[in-house]
Amino acid sequence: MHFADLHLHSHYSRAVSQNMTIEELARNAKIKGLDILGTGDFTHPLWLTELKKRLSFENGIYDFDGMKFILQAEIALVYTQGGKGRRIHHILLAPSFDAVDQINEFLDKKGRRDYDGRPIFGFSSIELVEVMQSISQDIEVIPAHSFTPWFGMFGSMSGFDSLSECFGDKAKHIHATETGLSSDPLMNWRLSQLDNITLISNSDSHSPYPHRIGREANAFDLKEVNYENIIDAIRKKKLAFTVEVSPEYGKYHIDGHRNCNFSCSPQESAKLKNLCPRCGTKMTIGVLHRIEELADRPEGFVPKDAVPYKSLIPLSELIAAATGSGVVSKKVAQLYNLLIDRFGSEFSVLLNAERADLLTVVGGPIADVIISNREGKLKIIPGYDGVYGKLVLNEVQQPEQTAAKKKFTTLRDF
Ligand SMILES: [Zn+2]
Ligand SMILES: [Zn+2]
Repeated sequence: MHFADLHLHSHYSRAVSQNMTIEELARNAKIKGLDILGTGDFTHPLWLTELKKRLSFENGIYDFDGMKFILQAEIALVYTQGGKGRRIHHILLAPSFDAVDQINEFLDKKGRRDYDGRPIFGFSSIELVEVMQSISQDIEVIPAHSFTPWFGMFGSMSGFDSLSECFGDKAKHIHATETGLSSDPLMNWRLSQLDNITLISNSDSHSPYPHRIGREANAFDLKEVNYENIIDAIRKKKLAFTVEVSPEYGKYHIDGHRNCNFSCSPQESAKLKNLCPRCGTKMTIGVLHRIEELADRPEGFVPKDAVPYKSLIPLSELIAAATGSGVVSKKVAQLYNLLIDRFGSEFSVLLNAERADLLTVVGGPIADVIISNREGKLKIIPGYDGVYGKLVLNEVQQPEQTAAKKKFTTLRDF
């Protein structure tokens, strides 16, 4: 099995860790159990210079110190279509530096790409696909975190209602969309318009640490790991499975206002006419709400050829919750490293380690939470309006968390 995280950012992107370097990415990806990484930010001149210098091309794919890389960038498109302002993020995967140079040459005619790792341009998604196709049929355009409110293709604030509305007759060249952290395949399967689309999952990480990279990923069963085979698998829905965080963990799962400390289910929002009861203005409408609006199928529907998925919270967060320590604390790092030394990678701990074997390294509470995670039994207070969901374990619950959880118990049952 090969694990790929195909959407990352470099240290040249805003709000990204200065440790987001090629070395740190490759080193931490091995600890995570990832085999293939997106480079992030190939549109950025300085990052691209580093990539050209450091990556070697071997057997159909780029490589640094044994880690495979796919040339990848994310761009933001801000434009008007159908009388409405649109703001959409797209992931680009490219086969070669030659293709990347041609993409950048086109972007230079449209604006600047040196001020941020995720530059903004004013042309449409339709034009993007048209030009990418003319550069190389091997370039893949993938709508990023497609349901997030501000920049998703289906986002509540400035998105579209359908793939064909967004891409027109170029929709046939779109083979995949990214589910984003706040939605999972089960939610996406409710839209029949996505039946022929491969749902892929990536971290969109802004730091190289194993609780960030690979928190969402794609598992491929490939004879040979190269660009061509990975793109072919994405185009033909030949993924073994995807790794997802619980959608409640994502920052835009339900509706609410971060500054007003208020969140609610789509059903409750409907009663409130989408207005925040604390400040009276429109709430940020989350991914779950948007899927309810666009779904043409009932909850729980599973399409025939659906790619399976595994729902997992990163290991450091499990250890932190089980021990009551911070995610980046020394204690969590020590226990984390013991598990990696014993089982080889985070994915093998999360997916495969037996409880009895876990107990030879860590105590019962950590072993239990790792098993509960794998079995999908963890409770998470849903995220909203930019606030991450929170993992809640009975053993470490604070009084205010218990109150919050009570409030959300009903929410989780809809
Ligand atoms: Zn984005
Ligand atoms: Zn408010």
